[in-house]
Amino acid sequence: MVSEVIEALEAVFMIEPGDEAIVKDADRNAYDRNRMQYNASILLNSITATWRAKATTETKTASSFYLWIVSEDIFVRGMNFVFGVAKPGKGAVLSTCRLDSLNMIKKEAIHEMGHVFGLQHCSNKCVMQFSNSVYEAKKKPAELCDKCKYLLKSHVHAQNHARDRDCP
Ligand SMILES: [Zn+2]
Ligand SMILES: [Zn+2]
Repeated sequence: MVSEVIEALEAVFMIEPGDEAIVKDADRNAYDRNRMQYNASILLNSITATWRAKATTETKTASSFYLWIVSEDIFVRGMNFVFGVAKPGKGAVLSTCRLDSLNMIKKEAIHEMGHVFGLQHCSNKCVMQFSNSVYEAKKKPAELCDKCKYLLKSHVHAQNHARDRDCP
């Protein structure tokens, strides 16, 4: 599953091999007993910490991005659940819990990594459409629209550290 997701990401974002996709269980400390879900913001913070740790030891850090794929259900405050959440310029967490096919996993991985590369939600027929339900996620295409492709090319991405907030 992971290699297919990475292939899909490479095709869209032209990232180089060596960028990492992490597949591991969600940290227990991110578990919310009341909600019986994992707090995606906590998982995302641990990615940011990894990113920072590498930033001090490597020079090519600016091109290192992380995708952490978990099978557990995740949430961010104010939402019942999220498919994923991203920290622009650093990495993203993706949950496969509510995604019932490889195509859906690829689609949401592209969406979250789109945020990592600086894209925001888009109202075109586009993978960057915000989806609040599995139905909406199914309906949207797996590709970036022309506008988002253009934005991606013109380097809104990566350098966009100023907007350092989490995007579902
Ligand atoms: Zn778009
Ligand atoms: Zn989003």
